[in-house]
Amino acid sequence: MIFSDIIGHAAARKSLCDAVKRNRISNAYIFCGQPGIGRTSLAMAYAAYLNCNSRRSDDACGVCSSCLKIASGGHPDVVVLKPERAVIRIDDVREMIRDCVYPPFEGNWKVYIIDDADRLGEGAANAMLKTLEETPARAVFILIAGSAAKLLPTIVSRCQIVKLIMPSSDELLAGLQRNAASTDVSRVDEAYRLSGGLPSKAFKILRGEDLLIKKDLWGELMEHILSRNPLRALRAVECIQIMAMEYGDRAEGIIGVLDEVCRRIIHKAIENAGWSPAAIAISLAEEAKAALRLNANPQLTLESFIIQLQLRG
Ligand SMILES: [Zn+2]
Repeated sequence: MIFSDIIGHAAARKSLCDAVKRNRISNAYIFCGQPGIGRTSLAMAYAAYLNCNSRRSDDACGVCSSCLKIASGGHPDVVVLKPERAVIRIDDVREMIRDCVYPPFEGNWKVYIIDDADRLGEGAANAMLKTLEETPARAVFILIAGSAAKLLPTIVSRCQIVKLIMPSSDELLAGLQRNAASTDVSRVDEAYRLSGGLPSKAFKILRGEDLLIKKDLWGELMEHILSRNPLRALRAVECIQIMAMEYGDRAEGIIGVLDEVCRRIIHKAIENAGWSPAAIAISLAEEAKAALRLNANPQLTLESFIIQLQLRG
């Protein structure tokens, strides 16, 4: 993972590179923003940039032994701490603190990436605080968090905050096209549409690893919707709710799923040369979306949408 693999975050990339060029590398950063927008990927790309053996002006080379080791997760100077059972273990933090005082084994910098740093327990956060007060000269800590407000103020005050925002639609589409094989044109379109704008989800869909795609929940949902069977209507409501949760926010998630349902119904109408229920489905979906935007109860709105669609479609 190097900067040119990253979707969006151009301003953050530039400021990180500029700091390295001016020899003003901060020993502690907080990369904050919504999960799925590429926070950890950016941290890995920065670790590669710091340690690359043939660094270019604005990126790591991606092919030297250091870059290859970081990409495979086997670089001894780049450590990623992740939560286990929802918390970052204090023993892992203590081990990191013991380790960070030694100079890098083979790279220029030791880089510690603390994923989901908002899950540092109180003991672990306090243990880290001492290290952040006096960071070893060749160590960089990158805390990944939803927002800096979720971390102890004493930790935040010792870190440089890098705020990350959702990449634009154009950046996401261009990034997916850049990373996809030439045979994956329809997959890119699907990944772009179903990702909710999140690069990590889009890549999962592109690689066929997304659960909704793997289990073909979309296919199942469309069969339920079009079945005219009340029992399958209930299953359709469940399906939509599971899928909407993948998008995060509930009402916005359901609206995203309804948009995709309409697109699939239009597709079916085109295949069947003017299939008449399509117009009804689209007008019902528009009504449901408008109601959700006005804070209608999501469960009742969905049940009404599916039942009306089965009765009138
Ligand atoms: Zn390199």
